[in-house]
Amino acid sequence: MTQNLNKPHGKALDTIVESSRIACDGGISGHPKVYYDLNDDGEAWCFYCSKHFILKDSKADKNRS
Ligand SMILES: [Zn+2]
Repeated sequence: MTQNLNKPHGKALDTIVESSRIACDGGISGHPKVYYDLNDDGEAWCFYCSKHFILKDSKADKNRS
């Protein structure tokens, strides 16, 4: 799992992942650890912290710009 924070006019909270099943625990602010399956476009949003996960090279990733 890697963070992509380089795009100045992208969405800074987008998190690029390389697996279609991801876990989020909210990082520093924290919330119960939850698992998500990415949707058909290769993306998912955390129910707790609204973090946006995008599967690398997925349809959602290619639509980001
Ligand atoms: Zn979260």
